[in-house]
Amino acid sequence: MIRARPAVTVPLADALGLVLADDVIAPLSLPVFDNSAMDGYAVRAEDTMRATPDQPVVLPVAEDIPAGRTDELTLKPGTAHRIMTGAPVPSGATGIVPVEATDGGVDAVEIRQEATAGKHIRRAGEDVAAGTTVLHAGQVVTPAALGLVAALGLAELKIVPRQRVLVISTGSELVAPGNPLKPGQIYESNAIMLAGAVRDAGATVVATETAGDDVEQFVAILDRYAADADLIVTSGGVSAGAYEVVKDAFGRDGDKGVEFVKVAMQPGMPQGTGEVAGTPIITLPGNPVSALVSFEVFIRPALRTAMGLPDPYREHRAAVLTETVTSPRGKRQFRRAVLDKASGQVTSYGPPASHHLRWLASANGLLDIPEDVVEVPAGTQVQVWDLT
Ligand code: AMP
Ligand code: MG
Repeated sequence: MIRARPAVTVPLADALGLVLADDVIAPLSLPVFDNSAMDGYAVRAEDTMRATPDQPVVLPVAEDIPAGRTDELTLKPGTAHRIMTGAPVPSGATGIVPVEATDGGVDAVEIRQEATAGKHIRRAGEDVAAGTTVLHAGQVVTPAALGLVAALGLAELKIVPRQRVLVISTGSELVAPGNPLKPGQIYESNAIMLAGAVRDAGATVVATETAGDDVEQFVAILDRYAADADLIVTSGGVSAGAYEVVKDAFGRDGDKGVEFVKVAMQPGMPQGTGEVAGTPIITLPGNPVSALVSFEVFIRPALRTAMGLPDPYREHRAAVLTETVTSPRGKRQFRRAVLDKASGQVTSYGPPASHHLRWLASANGLLDIPEDVVEVPAGTQVQVWDLT
């Protein structure tokens, strides 16, 4: 349902963390030219034969070659060129004497150690030969990959773009943080949380908006942003009560492209899914823990899959439960948990009800208890989703 976007070419700075849509073929070799691996003196190795600290060889310094010098130089026999790391090795030079093995002279240099032919010279193409496939389609662009691509002179990469997600919170009780609360009001917390989860999954946020329990207001937000989104995520307004704005907007019987269902999980039972003007939508329940756990279960894997990212699913780990927990019959329960990777133990963290956000904020895992289990005794090996 959530579809990959067509590949696009972006500047390197925008490619980090995304998946390559094409192989990258080196347009040039690396190093680009033979260059010095040391600050020192380019010499013909035979001119330094038998040089020692006691019996140094003295050579006139004919050129000074800092990194970035662009004229092509030739080293005449019986002379040295002072050369810096990364500077082009003059033709005729066969070795580099590190500055530490000299007196550092500018007009003439006292060489105290024999140069070995080829030593301290980084040869053109020894890292990458032009024409080599250096990165493959499907690879994630890492900082090192960006460095390599830039070193090859490429300014852009073709990547699978981020999914664009519109996040809408609903509820007439909601007030943006930073404003005063009236009695009966609470601070809106799902939008920033879900937008963070979207970004954490590698996707991008089109907008984070809040609508009251007012169908017109909700639909106006959809009209404004839906066309720019690959996925719409709403929270709240899908339960069994009155004033369920999301259900009211789409009709409760699925005739407007969104179907509302009960999922046998806790938290996160009321859910909805469908399309709005061709854009997929997932309607999450409003309780903050339900919303975020549902995002983990349904949305994060889908977004990552659509972006071609590795590990769409959180790593599942086996761990030993430190205390007995209960779970409702017929529901797959996700409990907030603290996983100690060193000892392989996991402790359930906070009560299971879906408004206890505090515990989720300091948990690092979700304990995954199957539907048919009603009690898990301490010492049992359980499955934990690693949220780190
Ligand atoms: P609902 O699913 O709209 O019935 O909401 C369920 C519970 O979650 C209610 O207690 C709401 O006040 C709360 N809630 C819904 N949306 C949000 C939100 N965006 N931020 C904080 N709490 C919310
Ligand atoms: Mg509500």
